Amino acid sequence: MLNISRLPRNDQTNAWNTILPKRTPHAALAQDINADWLVVGAGYAGLAAARQLAHNRPNDSIALVEAGVCGENASGRNSGFVIDLPHTTSSNLDQLEGSHRYLRLARAATAALEKNVRDFDIQCDWSRDGKYHAAVTPAGSRAMLDPYAAELTALGEPFEWVEKDALAAKLGTTHFHRALFTPGCVLVNPAALTRGLADTLHENVSIFENSPVTGMDYSNGARATTQGGSITAPRLIVAANGFSDQFGYGKNTFVHLALCASLTRPLTKEEQTLFGVDQPWGLTPANGFGGITMRYTNDRRILIRQDIKVAMGQDFSALKTQAIGRNHKALMDARFPTLKGVTFENSWAGYICMSRNGAPMFGEVSPNIWMAACQNGIGVTKGTISGMLTADKACNIDHPLIDDMEALGKPLQLPPRPLVEIGARANIGWEVWKNRAEA
Ligand SMILES: Cc1cc2nc3c(=O)[nH]c(=O)nc-3n(C[C@H](O)[C@H](O)[C@H](O)COP(=O)(O)OP(=O)(O)OC[C@H]3O[C@@H](n4cnc5c(N)ncnc54)[C@H](O)[C@@H]3O)c2cc1C
Repeated sequence: MLNISRLPRNDQTNAWNTILPKRTPHAALAQDINADWLVVGAGYAGLAAARQLAHNRPNDSIALVEAGVCGENASGRNSGFVIDLPHTTSSNLDQLEGSHRYLRLARAATAALEKNVRDFDIQCDWSRDGKYHAAVTPAGSRAMLDPYAAELTALGEPFEWVEKDALAAKLGTTHFHRALFTPGCVLVNPAALTRGLADTLHENVSIFENSPVTGMDYSNGARATTQGGSITAPRLIVAANGFSDQFGYGKNTFVHLALCASLTRPLTKEEQTLFGVDQPWGLTPANGFGGITMRYTNDRRILIRQDIKVAMGQDFSALKTQAIGRNHKALMDARFPTLKGVTFENSWAGYICMSRNGAPMFGEVSPNIWMAACQNGIGVTKGTISGMLTADKACNIDHPLIDDMEALGKPLQLPPRPLVEIGARANIGWEVWKNRAEA
């Protein structure tokens, strides 16, 4: 029996989730059951895998087991950008084929999510608002936005330059020098989307929340043990994000990072008038390490996402998150001085995992065991498509996008953990320092 001891903690700090109406989670696993398929993890990857399996095999039984509750996981606590384009800070025109593959994968994922949102009337603020990719300084614009514009031109993707004054009018802050607006990005409340996807699965999917898997036995198919029971299945898909490396495969391939975000209460009518912005927007920074991701939401809240910390134990403390929240408030006040009285609903941390070479953990890792993990920070689309294609692959369905997914490569092995921690901290620290003018 394989012991699984590093488990997600639900600290209930995710403001995207707490601002939603109360939801009753699916019951925890409370008996020993058998299923045709077992999927571990109900984030975008696991939800997409379970949905696609149900579609491919309507007569099979699928058990989806989730440690916490849907909407509190990384899928529910991200910044809510459903990103269609390569999330790049520089471009390499030699690698356009890779960018085309990326676009095909991201667009297929977005289309699948959009179809579910429409078909099941998922109320998640799904808005095709596009996004601004913004530089703070002229030097940042030249170094990062110009090459990105060249790549978009080569890809034949539409974009628009938005200069300082026009940008200030759109965003309500004079902080940025210039931005590239791309229209394809969708903005959502990610917790509402995750919950909605979990609550609209086909009838042949049984979902168990609040049921962390603490042991795996592979002697006869896959048997997952939780505190309340067990699930035995001949086939397994592990979609547990950074926790997946404990399931016996992909060991020593993930760098675990904590990302922090804060969301304000809605602006009052008076504050909206002072702010002077009437359309929601989303902004990603030209430099992902030095800069700040921000949004102004449909329900008139401001999101700040800043600070990337190495968190190999996935145990980022509440005290550290609170300190980052105070920093977020200072950053917000500096950018929106008229909104100094606007408080945060909450600040929270969530975990992502990256591989050394940016490749996902995708495909069959042992007979009848597949993995859909390690989305390298852009998990709304990448997680969704990796779950869908894993299910197709596991059902021997030859989807044309599987080639694109496999072309992303396999994660490379990392050096021993202390070296990874030192190396990752040094790299991130250097990137943040080097790009401090882009904060
Ligand atoms: C603050 C922040 C901002 C981000 N912003 C964006 C963004 O704007 N756009 C974007 O595309 N991406 C963003 N990301 C990244 C994105 O959220 C993740 O890449 C994505 O959610 C990964 O999806 P997933 O399904 O692979 O993992 P998860 O959502 O983490 O799902 C994995 C699930 O596995 C469960 N699990 C783990 N261990 C066990 C176990 N032992 N037993 C049972 N279940 C288990 C977990 O509870 C979890 O629910 C952001 C992340 C953070 C933290």
